[in-house]
Amino acid sequence: MSDTYKIIDHTYDAVVVGAGGSGLRAVQECAQSGLKTACITKVFPTRSHTVAAQGGIAASLGNMGPDHWTWHMYDTVKGSDWLGDQDAIEYMVREAPAAVYELEHAGVPFSRTDAGKIYQRPFGGMMQNMGEGPPAQRTCAAADRTGHAMLHALYQQSLRFDADFYIEYFALDLIMEDGECKGVIALCMEDGSIHRFRSHATVLATGGYGRCYFSATSAHTCTGDGGGMVLRAGLPLQDMEFVQFHPTGIYGAGVLITEGARGEGGYLTNSEGERFMERYAPSAKDLASRDVVSRSMAAEIREGRGVGPNKDYIYLHLDHIDPKVLHERLPGITETGKIFAGVDLTRQPLPVTPTVHYNMGGIPTNYHGEVVHLKDGDPDAVVPGLFAVGEAACVSVHGANRLGSNSLIDLVVFGRATGKRIAEILKPNTKHGTVVTAADDAAIARLDHFRNAKGAAPTAQIRNDMQRTMQKHCAVFRDTALLDEGVAHMDAVYKSLGDVGITDRSLIWNTDLIETLELDNLLCQAVVTIRGAANRKESRGAHMHEDYPERDDKNFMKHTIATFDGWGGKGGSVTLDYRPVHDYTLTDDVEYIKPKKRVY
Ligand SMILES: Cc1cc2nc3c(=O)[nH]c(=O)nc-3n(C[C@H](O)[C@H](O)[C@H](O)COP(=O)(O)OP(=O)(O)OC[C@H]3O[C@@H](n4cnc5c(N)ncnc54)[C@H](O)[C@@H]3O)c2cc1C
Repeated sequence: MSDTYKIIDHTYDAVVVGAGGSGLRAVQECAQSGLKTACITKVFPTRSHTVAAQGGIAASLGNMGPDHWTWHMYDTVKGSDWLGDQDAIEYMVREAPAAVYELEHAGVPFSRTDAGKIYQRPFGGMMQNMGEGPPAQRTCAAADRTGHAMLHALYQQSLRFDADFYIEYFALDLIMEDGECKGVIALCMEDGSIHRFRSHATVLATGGYGRCYFSATSAHTCTGDGGGMVLRAGLPLQDMEFVQFHPTGIYGAGVLITEGARGEGGYLTNSEGERFMERYAPSAKDLASRDVVSRSMAAEIREGRGVGPNKDYIYLHLDHIDPKVLHERLPGITETGKIFAGVDLTRQPLPVTPTVHYNMGGIPTNYHGEVVHLKDGDPDAVVPGLFAVGEAACVSVHGANRLGSNSLIDLVVFGRATGKRIAEILKPNTKHGTVVTAADDAAIARLDHFRNAKGAAPTAQIRNDMQRTMQKHCAVFRDTALLDEGVAHMDAVYKSLGDVGITDRSLIWNTDLIETLELDNLLCQAVVTIRGAANRKESRGAHMHEDYPERDDKNFMKHTIATFDGWGGKGGSVTLDYRPVHDYTLTDDVEYIKPKKRVY
């Protein structure tokens, strides 16, 4: 197979797939340490989804009120509904302030307080005094364009060091040999050439897979390609059943309105004009964590108190806020409201609905970014040569529910940690072994298969079936009947990929082919997501199972790990297993935070 396609060889110490916030931070650390480093990305770096992040990045700087890293830790553990690993959470919150100052020095134009310090706003679930409240102002913001500012600064920084960028290259599959990762195979989308990147450390920083769902705030490029590659390599994904719905996607368009809008004083009302969050979360109200607010909104809609002709949305009010504040702190969403909902936020409420936003699940790693799996009874066995960071990974700091502004900090803290680990275990210019051809053959065979697919079902139709099935059967509220039916549907949708047909057979900018490869990646993850959801007979964080409305720590305080057999509609069986949650902290500076009922 490799004879019919031209293969170009590259050798590196480290290869990072992905140029979002996490990938760029890892690239910077590796290159700075003197390692020969490459970054492969399917979109231009500054077009990665990180660019769309609005509200901000969490760190206990205490610029606008008292704060402490132990409070941030408590909130993150509670937000995760005790599914997060407390050693990793401690690492993240302690490193957070330094990571934010590093960004400041790298050129991120943070908004400022009158005293010239970094501006911090309140965000959902972020409290003072170990959850006792009042809200902590912890989320550092560059107006409502924090991700944009961060990504540009990180890209500029990564160019200071000697890393090679392969832009608009699509990574197809990992090169695995005897359980070790030896690099990655990629397609140059511009000229159709195949590239074999051999590396001692391969970092997957490929982002989330929100596009499994019909209505998502994430970009169309968020197709979980890293997760797909990992499943095809026979490795597991973790906690995939936990999918975050953001309370405020614009009705119809799905475009995000940042939680910062509620942080700045915005509130939600139902068709009766009632501020219903006061009933569901008497203390945190509109700033309860995302799963709680999304569920409350969905419950209002279900009980007939939704707004609009079909009673299927909720109003977000910002019209009581001084237009000057909106202009200064939320200029981006003021514009978004106008374009996507035709609403002047200073005068009218905005129609919003819970929308898929973030994947808590992903490639399991430890806090050094090393990919782990269950091996010979060891739940933390490291896969040599393979690393994962950012939304693609599951460290797990977000557990069953991520707090807003905790992803951006996860990206830079663990991007750096991963680079540091690689620099620790790898000497620059380490020799490479012989070329592994079996891995290229499999990757190229898959590419060739889809390129020549002549079936009856267009890619867009299968994608639509998947997105509608996930939206209907695996959303905010789940129950046994809905999930079981959804599992059967998703199996059928997966199988239908066996009958996909594409029309463009070329290799030059063949978007038909790329979208089909992406769909294959999405489908296997949609299947493990809904299987994991059907299997988890409890309610925890974002997973609300109405037949099991309580959290069940006895039977389910554990990470789900799922493997998947097959690709392209073939096979399709899922194996589920578990890893224990890390119920210990990293140091003795803080005690393990014991589970209790999660109320806001
Ligand atoms: C609209 C929106 C607003 C958000 N706001 C916030 C916020 O305010 N605060 C917060 O903490 N979090 C926020 N989040 C979440 C956060 O922004 C994301 O989780 C985070 O940016 C993901 O970063 P990443 O580095 O993991 O990947 P991404 O930024 O998604 O980048 C993925 C990279 O992988 C590359 N890639 C993927 N597949 C391939 C392939 N096959 N071959 C080659 N390259 C590939 C892409 O080219 C890209 O460079 C928001 C998310 C959204 C969608």
